[in-house]
Amino acid sequence: MDFSSTVEATPLMQTDVDLTPYNTLAVTARAAYFCEVDSEQGLVNVLKWWKEQQKQLGMDLPIMPLGGGSNIVLAKDFPGLVIHVSITGRDLVEEDDHWLWVKVGAGENWHQWVEYCMGFHYWGLENLALIPGTVGAAPIQNIGAYGVELCNYFAELRAVEINSGVAVTFDSDACKFGYRDSVFKQQMRDKYIITSVTFKLRQEPSLCYDYPALQSHFRDLGIDSPTPHQVFDAVCQVRASKLPDPADIPNVGSFFKNPVVSDEQHKQLKRQCDALVSYPVAGGHKLAAGWLIDQAGWKGYREDEVGVHDQQALVLINRKGSGEQILSLAQKIQSDVQERYGVELEIEPRVYSS
Ligand SMILES: Cc1cc2nc3c(=O)[nH]c(=O)nc-3n(C[C@H](O)[C@H](O)[C@H](O)COP(=O)(O)OP(=O)(O)OC[C@H]3O[C@@H](n4cnc5c(N)ncnc54)[C@H](O)[C@@H]3O)c2cc1C
Repeated sequence: MDFSSTVEATPLMQTDVDLTPYNTLAVTARAAYFCEVDSEQGLVNVLKWWKEQQKQLGMDLPIMPLGGGSNIVLAKDFPGLVIHVSITGRDLVEEDDHWLWVKVGAGENWHQWVEYCMGFHYWGLENLALIPGTVGAAPIQNIGAYGVELCNYFAELRAVEINSGVAVTFDSDACKFGYRDSVFKQQMRDKYIITSVTFKLRQEPSLCYDYPALQSHFRDLGIDSPTPHQVFDAVCQVRASKLPDPADIPNVGSFFKNPVVSDEQHKQLKRQCDALVSYPVAGGHKLAAGWLIDQAGWKGYREDEVGVHDQQALVLINRKGSGEQILSLAQKIQSDVQERYGVELEIEPRVYSS
């Protein structure tokens, strides 16, 4: 559908909205305009209305799609329109002897969707339990945990182009998934709003539990071949023991991506520190960013109202500080790690700073 053929929109638009409850870092920032959309047509209507308003006023303010706010850093007030996507629904669209295709609304809560799969014996997403946020945001950075990534069980998604209001379908190739990456963080950044994701899930379980933390969990319990529900429970327990709950200590999970270095640099670093935590990947070696930050002495560091979590060096925490303070701390950590190890740390969440 394009703008010229849509009905007149009557969006429920709010102005000057406090975004503190809408981001898990609990940073205080305001949105000039804010609205909630609960259907694809509603989204198209809002985009049409916004475009007309902008044209009349001779303005071109930005649009921010927002899910659970668990992967954003708001360093400034947002001058444009925040669209909170709350489109729900889960539909089994197809199945064969081995696979099931389920279309899920972008506004569905991710963990509740994983729980739903467990209840219906749709297998594959067990390792992605307890990741905060929405289904619609999950493809943006190809969420992953404990050896599984969204792209392993992804079929296609539907998204509305912000500029034209046209809804299109992206298959896996078009999404260009990578490590915490997709086309929506690169060439198509800020160009589309995802309205649904279709998953391709297994009829029979094929479990992945060779990740060290899961192996030691099962070893302690004396379990050799866990069931899918045991993998799900293990992931929930391990995550709860390692990561702070944003409801208690505001955070956005891993603040930096694990960097990949060349074989040459890896050899050099190994000479510098024998205990370096790394594993081989295509094009070099992936390093544990948390280990580097910990070795550099930042774990538990506090600076005014922000800091580094005392058990997980990869997690920056906020105690009534600002997005700018968080970013300033992140920059200090980046510079220190660069100086000590010659390794560049890339920030994982999306930063809104202007
Ligand atoms: C405690 C904790 C643990 C975490 N653990 C993990 C983990 O193990 N693995 C992992 O990969 N991530 C993890 N994360 C990060 C985060 O949960 C994921 O990136 C999640 O997918 C973000 O979802 P969200 O709905 O909160 O996105 P938001 O923070 O709302 O948005 C993130 C980005 O996506 C865009 N966006 C949101 N919705 C849409 C949409 N419908 N269409 C287009 N763009 C959209 C936003 O504009 C923004 O740029 C963790 C975060 C926390 C706080």
